[in-house]
Formats: sequence, C-alpha cells, structure tokens
Amino acid sequence: MADAADTDPDPASLCADFLSFSARDTASSWLVAPDLAIPLHAHLSRFVPHLLRAGQGAGLREQQREELGVQLLLLAPLEWLLLGEEPSAAFAALKEANRVSALCGHVFRVGEPTYSCRECAADPTCVLCMSCFLKSEHKEHRYRMTTSGGGGFCDCGDSEAWKQGAACSEHKQDQDQDQDQDPVQSLDPDLVFRAFGVFRAILRYAVDMLTWDREDSVPAGLEPPEKSDSFYCMLFNDEVHTYEQVIYTLQKAVNCDQKEAVSFATAVDREGRTSVRFGDFQFCEQAKSVIVRNTGRQSKPLKVLVMHSSVVAHQVFALKSLTWLSQVISHSDGLRRVLCTVALESRSGSGETLVDQLMLNDSKMWKGARSIYHQLLMNSLLMDPQYKKVFAVHFAKNYERLQSDYVKDDHDREFSITDLSVQIFTVPSLARMLMVDQDLMAVIIRTFLNLLRHRDLQGRFQFDRYTAQQAFKFGRVQSLIGDLKYVLMTRPTVWSDELRLKFMDGFSCFLELLRCMQGMDAVVRQVGQHIEMEPEWEAAFTLQMKLTPITSMIQDWIRTDEQVVMETYRCCLIALTHSLSGLADGEQPISLSLAGHMVETFRYQVSQEKVSIHLPLCRLLAGLHVLLSRTEVASRFPEQLPLGELSPPLLIELPLRCLVLCAQVHAGMWRRNGFSLINQIYYYHNVKCRVEMFDKDLIMLQVGASMMNPNHFLMIVLSRFELFHIFSTDSRKRFRDSNKDVLQQNNTLIEEMLHLIIMITGERFTPGVGQVEPEDELRREVMHQLCVRPMAHSELVKALNDNGNKETGLERVIDSVASFRKPGVSGRGLYELKPEWSKHFNLYFHHYSRADQSKAEEAQRKIRTQASGPGTSGGSGGSGTNGSTGWTESMLQRVLHLIAMALIEEKQQLESNGEEELTFNYSLKIQRPGSCGSLLSLLETLHHSPHLELHKDMIGWILTMVSHIRTLRLRSEEESVCVTAAVTTDHTLREREAAERRRKAEMARLRREKVMAQISAMQKHFIRENRELFCESRESAPCGEEQKCSSEDSVGAPVCVGPARAGLVSASPVTCILCQEEQEVRSHNRVMVLAAFVQRSTVLSQNRQSSSGLSQSRDVLFMNPALSLGIHTASCGHTMHATCWQRYFEAVHQKEQRRQQRLRGNTSFNVEKGEFLCPLCECLSNSVIPLLPPASTPATSVEQNLDTWVSATTLQLQLLRHKWSSGQGAEHAVTLGAEPAVTQGTETAETRGAETAETRGAETPVPEGFNQDFVPEPLPSPLSQMMSLFSLAVYKVALKTNPNETDPRLCPVSWSTCAFTIQATERLLWDDDKPLFGSLPCRQEECLSALCRFTSHCWTVAPPTTAQQHFSRLFSVFSASHDAPCLLDLDMFHLLVYCALSHCTVQALDQTGRSSSDSAHLNLLHLVTVAHLVQVLLTLTEKEDGTMEQDGAGAEEHLLLELYTVLQSHMGSALPAVASGWHLWRRVKAALLPFLRCCAMFFHYMNSTTPPAALLLSDGDQWAALCSYLSIPSNILLLYSHHHHHLDSLIHSWCSDPRVLQRLSESRSGPGSVLVQFPRESNSLVDLPEDYSDLINRASTFTCPRLSMDQARAPTLCLVCGTLLCSQSYCCQTVVDGDDLGACTYHALTCGEGAGLFFRVRECQVLFVAGKTRGCFYPPPYLDDYGETDQGLKRGNPLRLCSGRYLKIQRLWRQHALAEVIAHAQEANQTLAAIDWQHL
Ligand SMILES: [Zn+2]
Ligand SMILES: [Zn+2]
Ligand SMILES: [Zn+2]
Ligand SMILES: [Zn+2]
Ligand SMILES: [Zn+2]
Ligand SMILES: [Zn+2]
Ligand SMILES: [Zn+2]
Repeated sequence: MADAADTDPDPASLCADFLSFSARDTASSWLVAPDLAIPLHAHLSRFVPHLLRAGQGAGLREQQREELGVQLLLLAPLEWLLLGEEPSAAFAALKEANRVSALCGHVFRVGEPTYSCRECAADPTCVLCMSCFLKSEHKEHRYRMTTSGGGGFCDCGDSEAWKQGAACSEHKQDQDQDQDQDPVQSLDPDLVFRAFGVFRAILRYAVDMLTWDREDSVPAGLEPPEKSDSFYCMLFNDEVHTYEQVIYTLQKAVNCDQKEAVSFATAVDREGRTSVRFGDFQFCEQAKSVIVRNTGRQSKPLKVLVMHSSVVAHQVFALKSLTWLSQVISHSDGLRRVLCTVALESRSGSGETLVDQLMLNDSKMWKGARSIYHQLLMNSLLMDPQYKKVFAVHFAKNYERLQSDYVKDDHDREFSITDLSVQIFTVPSLARMLMVDQDLMAVIIRTFLNLLRHRDLQGRFQFDRYTAQQAFKFGRVQSLIGDLKYVLMTRPTVWSDELRLKFMDGFSCFLELLRCMQGMDAVVRQVGQHIEMEPEWEAAFTLQMKLTPITSMIQDWIRTDEQVVMETYRCCLIALTHSLSGLADGEQPISLSLAGHMVETFRYQVSQEKVSIHLPLCRLLAGLHVLLSRTEVASRFPEQLPLGELSPPLLIELPLRCLVLCAQVHAGMWRRNGFSLINQIYYYHNVKCRVEMFDKDLIMLQVGASMMNPNHFLMIVLSRFELFHIFSTDSRKRFRDSNKDVLQQNNTLIEEMLHLIIMITGERFTPGVGQVEPEDELRREVMHQLCVRPMAHSELVKALNDNGNKETGLERVIDSVASFRKPGVSGRGLYELKPEWSKHFNLYFHHYSRADQSKAEEAQRKIRTQASGPGTSGGSGGSGTNGSTGWTESMLQRVLHLIAMALIEEKQQLESNGEEELTFNYSLKIQRPGSCGSLLSLLETLHHSPHLELHKDMIGWILTMVSHIRTLRLRSEEESVCVTAAVTTDHTLREREAAERRRKAEMARLRREKVMAQISAMQKHFIRENRELFCESRESAPCGEEQKCSSEDSVGAPVCVGPARAGLVSASPVTCILCQEEQEVRSHNRVMVLAAFVQRSTVLSQNRQSSSGLSQSRDVLFMNPALSLGIHTASCGHTMHATCWQRYFEAVHQKEQRRQQRLRGNTSFNVEKGEFLCPLCECLSNSVIPLLPPASTPATSVEQNLDTWVSATTLQLQLLRHKWSSGQGAEHAVTLGAEPAVTQGTETAETRGAETAETRGAETPVPEGFNQDFVPEPLPSPLSQMMSLFSLAVYKVALKTNPNETDPRLCPVSWSTCAFTIQATERLLWDDDKPLFGSLPCRQEECLSALCRFTSHCWTVAPPTTAQQHFSRLFSVFSASHDAPCLLDLDMFHLLVYCALSHCTVQALDQTGRSSSDSAHLNLLHLVTVAHLVQVLLTLTEKEDGTMEQDGAGAEEHLLLELYTVLQSHMGSALPAVASGWHLWRRVKAALLPFLRCCAMFFHYMNSTTPPAALLLSDGDQWAALCSYLSIPSNILLLYSHHHHHLDSLIHSWCSDPRVLQRLSESRSGPGSVLVQFPRESNSLVDLPEDYSDLINRASTFTCPRLSMDQARAPTLCLVCGTLLCSQSYCCQTVVDGDDLGACTYHALTCGEGAGLFFRVRECQVLFVAGKTRGCFYPPPYLDDYGETDQGLKRGNPLRLCSGRYLKIQRLWRQHALAEVIAHAQEANQTLAAIDWQHL
C-alpha cells in the first residue's frame, strides 16, 4: 500500500479542520435543522472520504489518526446533539440513573467458557458466562462446560431459560420492581426526542451504506465536494479458496512479498474483505483481472471489486457508527428502547423496516459488516424483552427468504443472520408465540422441502443424482432441522385450540417430508455380477439421523394431549395408507396353506424385487400406536379412530421386508451389492438411528402380531423369509435337493427368523408395549451393555445415545445396577455390573450386535452363577452344521429359548391369575402328540443324546419346568387323581435329584475356576506392580548389587576414588541381541555397543532466557552453573556387536531410502539424522556407545598429597606450555569456538609468554620419568573407530554442525554429556526420593557405566596435545591466572569431570611406571570441592530457614565461620553477615550434597566400585557415607584447613577476580541477571489450576501476540515455562532454516531445544513435540467425576486436575523421555505421522 502515501491528504488541512471545528456549535446548528439528515449528510460527505482513506492495510499511526478524526469530527457532534451537554459526564449520569439490567447479556468471545446446568437449564442452549456462573446456585449442581464458538450471549436473568435459579446474585432483581415499566418514561422527554432524531438519521445512513450495491458512486446527498478519483481493489472472502491459494495469487497479482500476502489473507479471513491495492481505476482493475484469472480455473473465482474510495470510506464509517450506537445504548435501557423503536419502524411507504433491510441483505454483506450489525441486534433488540418479540415476528416473517439466501451463500453459519434463530426459537414463550401466530413449525418444514426440490417420479428425495452444488446445498439446508429442534425443544404444558391447529398443520407438513423419504434409496439384489458403482447412501442416512431426534420430540409433544394423539394417529394412518396403496397393484395375492391354516399374502420376494430401508411413515405410525395404547384413548373413543381401516398384514409388510433384508444380508445373499448396503444395515441398527428405525420396525411387527391370527402371522413371516417351502414340504427332500451353499444360507435365515420371533415375543420393555416405566427400559439397556464388559461413563453414554446436556436420570439408573471402579494414573474409571443383576441377562437382547452377543455370552459364562433359566442359558451358539441333517446348534438353542420363554410366561400367568383366566397353555401343547411324537417326548430323547452336552442343562431345565407347571395346574385342581399325582411327583423327584447333582458339579467347577482366576489376577498384578523388576530380570543379567555388597562387607567401607579405591569383581559377559552370541567385554575382543539416544536438553536450566544462540560459538570447555543447555544421553540398555549393529543400521537405511520414494518421511525416526529403532525394543536411538572394559584395581599407585601434586602438575604443565609455544605452538593452539577463541587465544598467549619467560629464568627441572614427547599407544582400531563414531554423534547433536574429527571440541562435548547425564539422573533420583545406588533400572545403570568408561578413554580419539591443552586451560582455574571464567560462572561438577578425564593425557606422559592417576583424581576432587565450597558461600543469601539451632558439629561451625570471615575480608560488603555457624553449616551441607552425589556416581561408574550400604537406602543421613565413599573428611572444612597456606592464595585470587564482584552486585541490585544458588532447585512444570475452567477462562482473553486485536484460535500453554502461544495459525509462524514453524514448534526450539510439552487449552489435550516434524498427543491431566479425560472437550463435564497424572507427565519430561514417547506413539499409530506437527 505504498501508493497510498502519494495521495494522502495534506495533514496540514486536516489539522486546520481540527482546530477550527467545534462539535458543540455544529451540534447546535443541526438541532435547528428541520431534517437532520440533510446537514448530517453534508457534513459526512465532506469529512468521511477525507478522514477514512487509509484502508485496512494502514499502519498503526494512521489508524490512530483515523480513530481520533472520527471521534472528534464525526461522533462528537452527534453526541453533543444527542445529549445537549458534555458527552462523557452525560453518559455517566445516564448510566447512574439506569437500573441494573435484569439480563446479563454478555456476548461470548471465541473460546470463552460457557456453563449450562443439567438440572435446571430449560434446554442445552441456555448458558451462563463464567462470572454469572460462579455467582449462581448451579455451581453446586451437575453442570456442563463448553467453549463458545463466539456469538451468543449469557442467559443469566432470563426466567424462561432456567427452571430455577434464573439469575445470579448480581442479576437478581427485587421482586417488587416492575418488569414491564417502560424505561423510556424515566428519561428526559427532550432527550428522547433528540434520540429519535439522531438514531433515525444515523441508523438510516448506516443501513443504506451497508446495503449499497454500487461500487463507483455514493448515494445522493453524500457526493464528496471535490471528486478525487481514487479506487480500491477490494478482495472478498470466500470459503472455497484456501489460504495458500489466496497468498499465492496475491503475490502474483499485486507484487507483494509473502509476508504482506499473508497479512492480506489473514485480514480477508477475519474481516471478510480487504483492499489489496489503492490507486487509479486502471491500476486496480489490472490487479483484479489477475486475481480473477488465477483463481477461476478450477472453481468460482475469488470475488474482487474495484471500489471508489468514497464508497469504501462511507462504509467504514457506517460500521463505526453502528459500533458507536452499541456503546451509546449500553448506558441506558431507555435509549436502547428508542433505538429498537427506530430500527423496527417501517420506512415511509414500503412497510419494510431498517432491520428487515439489513436482514434481507445479509448474505450480500461481507463478514466484518455482518458481525458488527449482528452484535448491534444482540445488544439492542434481543436485550429488550418487548422488542425481542417484535423482532422475532420479523425474523419469522422473513424466515423463508433468509434461509434461501443462506443456502446460496457460502459463509459459515456463525456469520449468517439465520444463526440468530438459536437466540429466538429457544425461548419457549417466543417459540410458542411464533408457532401459533406465524405457523412457524409448518414454515420451517415447508422451507426445507422447498429448498430440496430434486425428487424422483414418486416425489421422493433423490440424493444419488446430486451435483456437487446440490450436495453443498443439502449440507447447508440441514441447519433448518436444527431450527425445528429448537422450536420443539420444550413441550407445551397446556394446549390451546390454536396451538393444536397449528401443530397439526406442522405435523401434516412433517408427514409430507416423511413421505418424500418413504421408500427412498431402494435396492435390488445383484445376482451374477457385482454392482458397478457403490450407490450413494450417506445423504439419506444423514437426513434420517438428523430427523431422528425431531421425530422423537414430535412424539413427545403428541403424548401430552389425548386429542392430539388421536388426530395425529388418524393423519398418519391416512398418509401411510395412501402411500401403501400401490403396494399390491396389479399382482394377484398368493395363498399359503400349512397344517390346516390358510392365509393370503403379497406375491413378493425380498431377494428379487426392490426393497428400501427408509420407511419413516410406517415407523412414525408404530410410535403413535404405542402412544395410543399407553393412553387407552382408543378404547374410550373408538369411533374417533379409523381403526377399521387398519390392515395388519399391510402394516407389517414393509417393516418385515426390511428385517428380512437384514437377515439375507447376514446370510450372504447380498454380497454383490457392495459396502453401501452393509453400511446402511449397520446404521439401521446403530444407536444413532435405531430408535426411529429398527426399534420401530420391531414394534410394528409386535403390533401386527397382536392383531393377527398367530398362525397366519407366522406363515407370512415364513413366506417373507423365503422359507415357506422348506417348512411346508417334506424336510428330507429339502436336504437332498439343496447344494451346500443354499443349505448354509437357509440355516442362517432360519436362525435369523427364530431370533426375530424371540424378539417379537420377548422384547416388551417399551412403555406402551409392555407394562413398564421408561426407567425400566433404560435400566435393561444399561445392564445389557455392562454384561458385555465394564464400561467407562462416556462409553455408556455413547452406547445409549444419551443426551449428556440434560438430566435424563441415566446416572441414577447406572448407579442402581453398577458399581464404579476408580482409575489409576492411566486408564479411566469403569462401571461394573453388580453381580445380582446378571441374572437378568438375555443373550437375545435386541440391541446386541453379533459381536456384542458373543462377547456378552463369553463374559457371562465366566461369571455365571448356578441360577439357571432362559436368561442365563449358555450354549456355544456355534453355527456348525451337523452333517447332512441340516440343523445347527444356534437353531436348537433358539428353539429351546423360545420354549423356555413360553413356559415362563405360562408359569407367571398361573401364579398371578386363577385357573379360569388362564389363556396360555403351552405346557399342554408341548405334550400334544404329532407325527414324530410330542415335543416333550422329543426333548426327553434329546436330553440323553450324547451330542448335545452343551444344551443338556437347558433341556433339563425345560423338563423340570414342564413338570413344575403340571404340578401347579394339578394343585389348583383340588380333586386331583392320586395316581397321576404320584407319577408326577416321582418324575419331579427324579428330575430334582438330577438337577441337584448338576448344580453341585457346576459349583465345584466354578469354585475351581474362581481360584484359578484369582491366582492369575494376583500374578498379573504382581507383574504390573514390579514391571521395572521384571524388565530387568528379562532384559539382562541382574545387576548383582547385593552380591557385591556381601563380598565387600569384610573389607570395610568401600572407597570409589583415590589410591584406596577398590576395583571390580569380574565383569559378567553380555549378549548381542542381534546374533545372540555371548561374550565378555575386553579391549581385544569383538567390540560391543549399546544403543543410545543423544539429545539437547534444557530440563535442568536455571535460566531459560539465555539458552539459545550459543551452539556454534560457545566455549564448550566450561559449563555455566545455570546449565541452560546440556547434552543428555539415554539408552534402552540393549547391547549388540558393533559389526552386527552396523549391518542392521545399513539395512534400515536402505529400506528407508527405498521407502521414502513412495512415502515421504512417514516414519517415527529419521535415518538422515542417524536415527534408528532398537531392534529389540523399538526404542528411538541415534547412536551407539562402545562398551569398554572396567578399570582395573590400582596395583602400583603412588600417593601424593595435595600440595606436592599441585606443584608437580604445575611443573609438568609449564614444560608442556613451553613445548607448545616454542614448537608448533601456533597451529596447535586450542581454538574453542569461533568468537571466544580469538580473545582467549590472545590472552593465553600473553600469560603463556609471561610464564615461559619465568620458566626460562628459573630453569625448570624436568620431573623424573616425564616424557613430554611420548605418544601413547592407540586403542585397537575397531574400538577406536566406534569411539570416534559416538563422539561425533554427540558432537553433531551438541553443536548442530557437521561432524569434524579434527575439531578440538570433540572431547569436551563427550565429557559434557557424561557429566550432564549424571547430573540429570542424580536430580531424578533426588526428586523421586530414591536411593543413589541400586534403584535405577538396569538400562540406565548400563548407560551410565558405558558412558563413564567411554569418556574416561575418550581422549584417545583426539591428538594428545589437544587434550593436554584442554587440561592446561581447565587447571588454570586452580592457578592464579584469570584465564578461565570466574568462579561464579563455573559448574563445579562439569569442571571436575573434565579435569579428571583430561588429566589422563598428562598422566600418560609419566614413564615412571607408577600410576599416580588415582591420587590425581582424589586431589582434583578435593580442589574442586573447596572451590565449590567457596562458590556456595559466595552465593548464599541472607534468608534463614527458621529452624531452631541445635547443638552438634562444633568443629565444622567454627572452621566454617573462619573461612567465611576470610571471604568477607576479600569481598567486603558484598557478602551478607551470618548470624550463626550452625545455620551456615546446615545450608552449606545441603548446597554441597548434589555435587557430592554426582561425584560419587561418576567415580562409581568409572571405577566400578561397590557402593556402601548406606547409599542403597533412600532415608538416613547420606552425608557421612558419601564423604567416606569419596574419601573426603566428613568435616569437609578440613580440606581447607589442612592446606590453607596453599588454598588461601588461591581463594584470594578467585575473590579478587573483578567478575565475581560484578556478578554479585548485579544479582543483588536487581532481578535481571541470574545468579545461580545452591542447591539448584529442580525444575517443575508450571502449576495448573485445580479447576479446568480457570485455565480455559485465562486462555479466552489471550490474544495473538502478533496481531494484537485478534483472538488466538488455538491458545496453547508451554508447560515448561508457562508462556501462552497462538498455535496452529498463520499469524504466528516463524521461518527457521527455510521452514515455516508454528508457534509451538518454534517455541519448543527455543524453550526446550526442540523438545516441548504443551497444553492445548481449548482441546484439553497435552502435546509433545520433538524437533520440527514430530509430535504426539498425550492424555491431559484433567479428569471428570467419572475418572475420564475429555480430549477435545466433547462431553463438557466439570474437569479437575489429577495431580498423579500431572506428576507422571512431569516425570516423563525430567527423564528426557518425550522423544521416546513420541516415537512409540507414532510407531503404534501411523496416522500420527501424517499430522502436520510442524505447523502446530
Ligand atoms: Zn453473564
Ligand atoms: Zn448474572
Ligand atoms: Zn442448576
Ligand atoms: Zn552380534
Ligand atoms: Zn532396546
Ligand atoms: Zn516454554
Ligand atoms: Zn497468532
């Protein structure tokens, strides 16, 4: 927009305007004008184009200038005119006089939390804002929380929205205040008069401008005085083109760079339009044509208009004036009502109001304009109870037009005026009023039908012929169903005649809609060939799914009024009869006869003709029929119902066909019809649809069966199942004729038919079908779900399709049948069926899928009790056909089940009724002899059949039952014949005995099973509890700490460092996981390696600000105590031969390279970075550590005390330095890092120069046996190769550069990973309160010891001089030079490790053959400990910990105070005074402890020394044990006092370093710089609030840090540092090395060196990222009352922090396990790799 500068109005002229302008005078001149519009328009036409020309792309300063101009020149006179006095004071006075609003009306921001009460909300759309919620009574209720999608407002104070507690304490009003009092009357009448004038003029102006449709000129009266011809090229938003397309096009069209294009695209998306070019017409037109050409190739082009600048300026001001109006009316209810009146008064003549004008132009406006006027509507009309009604009427009147506009538009519904329906239709009184006055229900349905005009010849919807555009339209039209749902949400309590009339009108429209669906998407069975194309089925089911709740709601309404029940039943029956009339046309019925019965039926076969799953009319009638039987109205007013027209065979025909279709599909007869049909059948039974599909079909069959002759019913069923011929002909013939496939098919059909009959007769748990309450139905459902397996609350809710928003009583039912099992730190809470309920289990429960059925059967068999009956009857259910006889186990099982059901029915009747009323006599029928004897005798034969072991129990039960019923019948016949009785009792007795025997055997079996189950559970539990243990015992040989311990006990306390250290017991051999060969680790054996993962880490960082930017140039030889960046090495502990591993890695590498050509980078590891997965455990690794043999016990070690050793070493170093400076010095000078090396280099050169001069003068004596030119023998080559491989891997990760074997930093980075890994492990053990030794898992033990042994030989991979020079620099800390960083800038543990490891190179030059290395280590340890002691004392702060002083440790206190005094003498006031030596000693001990623990670990793993017993325990005083293990006096001050003549000068030189004083004063003067104090505190993840909604509320106010006004769409919290980020959004992407990185990925780079863990606040989800391209989601630490997480916030139950889970996440982070978790997650779930982690 650089061009804008040229034509910018002269600032001077504007200034002049400002100066000469008086708002007050202007206002008074307008006041006297007869028509305000005339002078106002003149004023606006003069100033608006002048002021508002910067456009959207303008800079901040221009925007501010614009704002100021608008306020002073345009709005101020209006305010003066309106108020007649100084505006700000007048507004304040108005606000003061206004009474507190009864409605909250807070409009929600995107992402703001909203609350609804399940107990009290009238419907789920009634919500509260957080502030109202916290002040309301619902806080204590069962509430629900969601995040707002923006728009909508708080319903606090709306008595219709809440059954109780309508207002929070703030919005509660006194009862006596008159709600209906007109607020305008309390205003000054003059003010009211002026308000009418101003509001009318401004609102008309604004509405006219926003609905203005010419882009080249302004409306009459607004023409600018001097016409300057400048134009904007205005780009409009659409939902067709992607961000990328827009950005790409703009770069081409207006020659802008990527960044500008992104900002244009963002603005278009946000505002709905933005100007991308400003200039003359031609200039803009040119850009327009490029954009249109570029975007119009595949789709509709982007909308671009070249608009005259004055049009745009007036439109911008129009929006500003609407916002201004919103503000003005917020001060006074009276003014608000005035505005409402103006907005809804009809404009001269037309009858159309301003609001109508806006609404009708809604879809033509751009997004930004729509949002602003919608907001104004919400603030005005919807807040005024009186005008809300008037507005509702206008809205309903325009409904059809608005909806068709919306359907044609492409913007999301939230930007459409139609979205306001939720604000209006959900208010019950408004909805009722609109329904009665405006016939709303019918209007909505008619509009819907009108918008879906595409039908087939019979007038049905025809989705399969839809074009893309029709499909799009269909997608949008569905929102009307949502509106219908709102209208029907609340049932009427009283029905007026008017309401009945309008409801019936709506109902007949609804029937019309169902008629369009009845029979749609019919299918015909394919034979021979597969279908060519899968037919479209989803649209029909989408519609079905959306209409399911509507249909249920309509039935709910109907239920409440008997008259309506009858009316609707009649209408529905007529509609159905009408649609069924064509069913039998043309075909003669066929007549069936069987066993003396005859019936006529349709000539129709499901397998041959058309059949449809969509039968909504039949199903609605079934639903109404149930209502009818519930009310019993039919029996009272039979004359009002056309029951005579009912033809049961006709009613059951279509539902039966549909059920037969399902059976045939299952029998495999429809295989050639493809997946489309399978999906339809699936949804037919699915919980989302079944209420109005499968369930109702079953009811219809029950209805039909109840009205028909049962024999006729069965014959029709047989015939529809196409089984009639089988049962009517000789069964033997059937088996002879049929081939195997047909036999199998028929068997399945018979099974299905039997199942259907079981369901028709048995499923009577729907109120109206059986005598039950709704709760019984629900309970049975819950129970059967839990019979399958224990379930989480959300699973149950899903399985039952419960409405989680509202109180439905589900929880009560669940609690009555199930017990809750709480979750641990993973998994979720589960409900288990209480055992007493499992006796109600029915294997043939109608909602079981086949999978459910077999799972439930399996589960119930396991917990089956001895109680038998049809409910718990077992049996394998196997469908194996028994040879050629053609029956299956399932068939038999079902038949037996049916018989049992019949017997139970009879028994119940017998027990409850007298003999007279007994209608059911199955026990007699079962004994009636047939062609093969009676059924009973057949059963008795079967009972002894050896093939039927599985059914024996069931048959036995039936036989017992028959005799039991016989007894019952006989008992009621008092004059019973003795003989019969005797026979019966005898029989019964025998049966009983047999039953008892079986029962006992069964019980014994169950007991055995239970014991076995218990043992197995105990085992599993034990393994779970001790997983670590088991892993160890499985993965590698036991570490054998105890063995070592016992062997060492006799020797005395072990020492790990110094000449007195003990060596190792024999090393155990290791096994290669690849070739399974076992061998010992020796330097001349084949090299063994350990898989390892090296990564950068900031986990221990004490200063997150300073970690970045150091990688390339930092001096790696000294570690700052802030530990901002460390290199961590981890391992899974798996060993391999180096050669085996190399072969493996090469194979993986090749495979990946082949793979990547097809599937780019979809792996959990990146071979380019040397990554691979451990071949055994799939753990992510990126290198291998070579294994080295353990150090041997020192045999010929010399002891040197500190003083002698220091002087000897100084001497040796002097000689070496002399050699370097005289010889090849220049080339060999150690250069560590680019920047510091230069200065360092010169510095060292200087000091070196001075020293060499000295040494020359003093003529240094060469120590005995010291050979400065000695070159040590190299390690065997395969080993040294692996060593440099690992060094280079560490180097690569640490410095992020290409490997360079000659870089002198190679050794230091390897040392550093050793030191850092030990430090990290020490912290982990400390934080977990675990003992220092013996508690680590084996894999970590292996890793640490391999790492320490490797680093102790690591110097051999570099030239000896380099390492010697390192030592020389490190040792300068202990000489008087200030060559090294100052004492406060050193991490002492790193220093110790580096010194100890680099000293070996100097030691190697000693040719005396006596190793002084151990003694050197000890002396170094002592020196560094003293240095650390001084460091700790210098950094102590004044704070005292308040513990009472105790006696003890007298000597330490005394010496410590002495040392402190020495330090004070050096530092002066920089050190605080200390009160007591006791406190000081306590704090010093605590500060030194981590260091000593690290030292103990280091020497332990390097020297393989057994740790003392005290360090294998976590409790007790470690101090003494540590000191003794480290060969340090337990009074650590003795180190100082024994050598104080040497150390005093050293301390003096440390303290006199000016940098020390500088650091101290910096930190004490301000919080800016970080002075690390000891002990360093372990880093924790940020605290999360207990209540999740606190978090979400905090994030809802978060705006994007780059676009300050924009709300972030995906606010994401960094759990490490607490920064909130604007994730997953273009605005916050950053380019790093040519890649666009989302805010999270970028932040992870800086905050966690690539590893990041975040909390996605709106999704309630934890995000792990590693590097740029990898990540995974992790369950959040928030749980609801049911022990479940809610990722994506789908359920909205209140969530609370589960600290156990949060600690688990924190542990993963501290363990550096994020990368590993991600790799495992991606390995397990390949779709994760496809997620665009980089842009999150
Ligand atoms: Zn509120
Ligand atoms: Zn409130
Ligand atoms: Zn409540
Ligand atoms: Zn091997
Ligand atoms: Zn492994
Ligand atoms: Zn962070
Ligand atoms: Zn952003």
